[in-house]
Amino acid sequence: MRRIAAVGLSGVLMVGCATTTPYVGQGPHRQVTRGAAIPPIDFVGNVLALPFKLILWDWRFANHSISAQTEAVLVQYLDARTLPAFEDTAYRLNQYAPGADVGALIHNRHIAWPYRLLLGLPTTLIFDVLLPGRLFPWGDYYNPFTNAVHLYSDEPPIALHEAGHAYDYAKKRYKGTYAVVRLIPFVDLYQEWQATGEAVHYLVEIHDRETELHAYKILWPAYGTYVGSYIFAPIGTIGGALLGHVAGRAKSAGRRRYYEELDAGRTSPASATPEAAPLSATLRSGQAGAQP
Ligand SMILES: [Zn+2]
Repeated sequence: MRRIAAVGLSGVLMVGCATTTPYVGQGPHRQVTRGAAIPPIDFVGNVLALPFKLILWDWRFANHSISAQTEAVLVQYLDARTLPAFEDTAYRLNQYAPGADVGALIHNRHIAWPYRLLLGLPTTLIFDVLLPGRLFPWGDYYNPFTNAVHLYSDEPPIALHEAGHAYDYAKKRYKGTYAVVRLIPFVDLYQEWQATGEAVHYLVEIHDRETELHAYKILWPAYGTYVGSYIFAPIGTIGGALLGHVAGRAKSAGRRRYYEELDAGRTSPASATPEAAPLSATLRSGQAGAQP
């Protein structure tokens, strides 16, 4: 099915999506580039992503319209982490740039060339050139072979998750091997959890409570789809997402109660860890807005 779609649409895409506006971003972040809005293409992208919007229960998933606020969260994260490969990572915001991606594949010195040739070339040709996420509903992703993050959703936690993949790779010495072992069953679950953990860890680190509480509700269902896909796709995928929704919302509620306890107990030392937050604590009116 993918191949048929590719034949019909690749010609259109080559002509229709390759335009970009001169980008004036947020501060000195030349690694962040943005595709020009192309309403008909973005509309079709939204429609194709409908099933995934429903599964993740998030209309902003793959909405192909990334706000300045989401970009601000991303660039703040980029400033907070320093590793050579991470600083070379490109971020394409709703952008189709096949030439730049192939060029990045050729020149990516962080991954040895045999990996780039054997695994990186087909990956890049399929997802960055022929069936790009600008139109197809693959969702946001990180391509380690081009060292590029592709964002289509106006969701700060997702942007951080994808940048988290880049940071996870940047920490690895043998990045090509790290990309190859993802093909081994269940390794993707480990790598996905690293990226989600990094996103949440960062939000805790900068005390962005609201985005953290929101992150569990979107990243945990997304993680559930990975877990569920091992059971019986697509039923398992949907089931995994549902379990992720339940677990993510419970986690978010627990963390909210923890923060309320923390704020309420300012006069006494707060010793509770996130895990030890009392689940029996009731939501107290008047304190919800007291969080800094
Ligand atoms: Zn991921």
